[in-house]
Amino acid sequence: MDNTQDGAAIRLRGVAKRYGDVRAVESVDLTIAPGEVVALLGPNGAGKSTTVDMMLGLTKPDDGTVSVFGRAPGDAVRAGMIGAMLQGGTLLDDLTVRETVGLVAKLHRRPLPVPDALRRAGIEDIAERRANKLSGGQKQRVRFAVALVSDPDLLVLDEPTAAMDVGSRREFWKSMYSFTDTGRTVLFATHYLEEAEEFADRVVLMRAGRIVADGSVAQVRALAGGRTIRAVLPEVTDSLVAALPAVTAFELRGDRVSLSSSDSDVTLRALLSAAPAVHDIEIGAVGLEGAFLSLTAEDETEAVR
Ligand code: ADP
Repeated sequence: MDNTQDGAAIRLRGVAKRYGDVRAVESVDLTIAPGEVVALLGPNGAGKSTTVDMMLGLTKPDDGTVSVFGRAPGDAVRAGMIGAMLQGGTLLDDLTVRETVGLVAKLHRRPLPVPDALRRAGIEDIAERRANKLSGGQKQRVRFAVALVSDPDLLVLDEPTAAMDVGSRREFWKSMYSFTDTGRTVLFATHYLEEAEEFADRVVLMRAGRIVADGSVAQVRALAGGRTIRAVLPEVTDSLVAALPAVTAFELRGDRVSLSSSDSDVTLRALLSAAPAVHDIEIGAVGLEGAFLSLTAEDETEAVR
């Protein structure tokens, strides 16, 4: 599978996109090698969808360049090299699942056999059902089959499991494993940190249009460099915790406090002196979620739920 003229599956150089006064994406440099499975993470409005749209040739950058397998994104899409699953991509209500996937297959030169695409997406049992009779999770799987049927080298998925319950999400990722086992490239945007943690080789974290961290799950965790402190604290208040030094994020549930700190020694000393009744203290390494919160938090400390 050597479609790469410049060695990269996706390459973004100095990419920027503005909508009026909003800088949706700014100075983004990103190279994704063939075979990588990359999670694009970030809070709402971070610029993930805009970045994905530029990779697919749906939006043009104002500055910088985007190439996919060495080609302009639109050319790579037309050549069937990219399969995309976008949020809210519409399905034709009157067509059955099999007809929908069959229709898309006809648009491509070397599609997968339709039964193959249905099997890989795990929707053989609903092949004769019309789109208007499908649940949200089933529609997502049909979109997945549509993305797969061109037999693409790269899959780009924007929040692929958004409408799925836990069971469907697990099934979905099982089908994805069989796709990536064949050495193909996947980029997916997600809100679900556990999906990134479990499934991605690499995590790219965006905030306010920029990439703020890029590496393996372990590297991104380490980048945050912090620790979590959990403790029980009678009569704890938001203002008490927010006033502690080095706290990057915190959560209160009843008398339990859970916080991320960039310097747990300093935070703990201040906590013990501000609230001597604190007990059951546990200190741990920051998980991906903690790293996510501390790397994407705005300048002021944020309370999170
Ligand atoms: P994410 O996918 O991370 O939630 P988006 O790429 O959708 O982020 O949005 C990034 C920023 O650009 C947001 O502030 C959003 O409101 C703005 N934006 C995105 N698309 C448009 C558009 N078509 N017109 C105006 N503003 C937009």
